[in-house]
Amino acid sequence: MTDARQWVLFLILGMFSHGVLANSAANSLDFTLHKLGSDPNGPTILVIGGIQGDEPGGFTAASLLVTDYRIKKGNIWVVPNLNFKSIIERSRGVHGDMNRKFLSLAKADPEYAAVEKIKSIILDKQVDLILNLHDGSGFYNPRHIDKDHNPYRWGQSIIIDQHAINAPRFGDLASLAERASNAANKNITYDKTHYHVKNTKTREGDVEMEKTLTYFAIRNNKPAFGIEASKDFQTHTRALYHLFVVEAMFQELGVEFERDFKMTLSSIKQRIDNNVKLALFDNKVYLDMARARSRLNYIPMKKDEQVRFSASNPLIALIGNEKSYKVRYGNRSVTQLQPQYFEYDDSLSSIKLWVDGELKQVPLGTVVDVKDTFKIEPIEKYRANIIGYARRGIEDEAGVIVNRKQILDRYSVDRESRKYRVELYLDKKYCGMILVNFVKPSSVDLASTAGPD
Ligand SMILES: [Zn+2]
Repeated sequence: MTDARQWVLFLILGMFSHGVLANSAANSLDFTLHKLGSDPNGPTILVIGGIQGDEPGGFTAASLLVTDYRIKKGNIWVVPNLNFKSIIERSRGVHGDMNRKFLSLAKADPEYAAVEKIKSIILDKQVDLILNLHDGSGFYNPRHIDKDHNPYRWGQSIIIDQHAINAPRFGDLASLAERASNAANKNITYDKTHYHVKNTKTREGDVEMEKTLTYFAIRNNKPAFGIEASKDFQTHTRALYHLFVVEAMFQELGVEFERDFKMTLSSIKQRIDNNVKLALFDNKVYLDMARARSRLNYIPMKKDEQVRFSASNPLIALIGNEKSYKVRYGNRSVTQLQPQYFEYDDSLSSIKLWVDGELKQVPLGTVVDVKDTFKIEPIEKYRANIIGYARRGIEDEAGVIVNRKQILDRYSVDRESRKYRVELYLDKKYCGMILVNFVKPSSVDLASTAGPD
């Protein structure tokens, strides 16, 4: 497989509010590299998440960098899903611990190619510094405080292998880590969850740490840091702590950015939970799968073709065969898609839709917010099918005014019974769909009054 195919290309499509989409084949679990920023003067920071599959704080934070940050000065390269197979199987390492494979590795190891590839990215001349995001046990503290806060714990720490290295820039590891840690702690009110710098002094005989990714970088004179959030916290809390440290590092290194969410627990959680959008076959099927039902039936897939999909974030994978596909999002199981196969027709790109009495032109492959009713404007020769709506004697469901109560709850995409599929057909061929979203009356108000927490 070529590099171009493995390192996923991005499509910029307007309908995703954050504009970034990965396009890949089902069952592909190669890690992806995302290059943000285009500053010829650098610096270039490589951020890695998911070297172990059961540390969601780190890979979720890395994924948020890809989807929600715009780099104004400097460059950020992100690999948010290094051990993608282990991530979706929620395992530390399905083929053993990948973070022990950087000193020596047999060519027969199933992860040999991935390890070689990430090594070559680390050694890329443009990369100045590496941050490897982990979730660790308890709370590291240089002094023994209690069983959860002591020198043997890993959580809430910035890890260095040694005091300094001989690199062209940023070689003073200890002081850089110390400054970033202090800056991050300004955002953390509770002392016991403060960050500390942990020096593993790897060169002095730590045979385990010698095998790690960061020490591979150090041996090659590349500044590298492990960043740990505590496993005592839920995923979104860990991600928030990670980003406090990552942003403090950016500040120290002269990287400037804009971010699309607020650094509060509620907004980061909302962003993580809602960023689950999936498009199949260039948007012919478009599903917003936040709080999706565990199984979605009769998904119109394309006959005799391998499934291609785009997703709103790089932790989404589609795994299965022609009978059924599982949708995974990091460690989470999102839903299962049960396909129904059709020939596709490309002659229709949008439909006219009456939304609460107002006529709109709606492109296929998008979501339409509806308060009370919608009506599809009939198109000659084409047939509309509102999934879950049935009235005796009507085959084309265009031309009827429909409200939420008229559609059977269990046919919605989401568990709250708000999002429904409307599919368009030409004879027996499938043309595309829109997703009708019956909005909660209060949702607009809630969004605008959300305060800090
Ligand atoms: Zn780890």
